[in-house]
Amino acid sequence: MNDAVMPTYGRTDVQFVSGEGAWLIDDAGNRYLDALSGLGVVALGHANPAVAAAISAQADALLHTSNLYRIPLQETLAERLASLSGMDNMFFGNSGAEACECAIKIARLYGHTKQFTDPTIIVAESAFHGRTMATLTATGNRKVHAGFEPLVSGFLRVPFNDLDSIAKIAANNNQVVAIFVEPIQGEGGIQVPDPEYLPGLRRICDANDWLLIIDEVQSGNARTGEFFCYQHSNILPDLVTTAKGLGNGVPIGVCLARGKAAELFKPGNHGSTFGGNPLSCAAANAVLDEFERLDITKQAKTMGAYLKSCFEAKLAGDNRVKEIRGKGLMLGIELAHPCPQMVQQAFEQKLLINVTADSVIRLLPPLIINQAEADQIVDTICALITQS
Ligand SMILES: *Cc1c(COP(=O)(O)O)cnc(C)c1O
Repeated sequence: MNDAVMPTYGRTDVQFVSGEGAWLIDDAGNRYLDALSGLGVVALGHANPAVAAAISAQADALLHTSNLYRIPLQETLAERLASLSGMDNMFFGNSGAEACECAIKIARLYGHTKQFTDPTIIVAESAFHGRTMATLTATGNRKVHAGFEPLVSGFLRVPFNDLDSIAKIAANNNQVVAIFVEPIQGEGGIQVPDPEYLPGLRRICDANDWLLIIDEVQSGNARTGEFFCYQHSNILPDLVTTAKGLGNGVPIGVCLARGKAAELFKPGNHGSTFGGNPLSCAAANAVLDEFERLDITKQAKTMGAYLKSCFEAKLAGDNRVKEIRGKGLMLGIELAHPCPQMVQQAFEQKLLINVTADSVIRLLPPLIINQAEADQIVDTICALITQS
């Protein structure tokens, strides 16, 4: 496609030149319904006017100063996120993987304060936490590891949604410092754990003095109908990572901490040149303003329930469909057979989706979609499934 760009992605041959809410427009003027939001990023849809205005005004005033000086927009954003999450403080980076790296470093530091020589973090099978060396090691997908060994030490893998295997580790391993999981696995195929899973993890962490780290990079920022997905479970983690929906396309990642986890980093322990700069924080503050104005968590909950019930009604009894699952506007339809071709078939119908874990159609539409757009997503996908 272009030899000057490394071929790390198998790209669809289309160029989008503008966007408008849930729609993307290509260079020939075709309109596509975006049911993927740039991988869960543009929560408010494309070209949101309030976010665009905030970015533009900030670009005129000041883009970057570095973390050597106070950044009022960063402080405001931190206070707002603390109040939305129940966490105490946070570190700003530029991506999901960086947020997860930060949480991993805090967990290791926690172990060293306890004089552990091999601080160990429990992670889940089919998890996804990013592509840096530590986060790809934490990721539970062999394809992500392959070719990059030696992996980082200090991780123990258990099946997702299985409290017993963790209880066994607790009885036998005295170097564990934390459990690190997604509240709903995204790349792993929209895997929703039992309602008792997160409360169970919280109890095990409390009993063993471990940190509970929840990766909300994909599930956070109102995506599932609560600001953070763990808020469906009435628990508080010790560390939370988030990124995707927070800047509506401006890169930002955050690691939020609470209690003892919030007191570990001292000056010099961690850093980021770009992290939390005036531009990304102006964008994220504007996103939170829009979330409030549009009552976006409620919108995600309502439209998500609508979308799910439409799929359930239309696909009931279809033996090509194994399960329809998810929360809010983080939805997956697992088919009985691999369906990678469905991405291209939907694209030909001008609908953008993707397929994860070989057989799961993944939907992460903008949280602002209306009912007519939801109906169009349902009609197109159900027709493709019926023809498959
Ligand atoms: C996307 C994702 C990441 C990695 O985020 P990047 O911004 O691509 O580094 C980490 N964790 C989860 C759950 C994700 O979905």
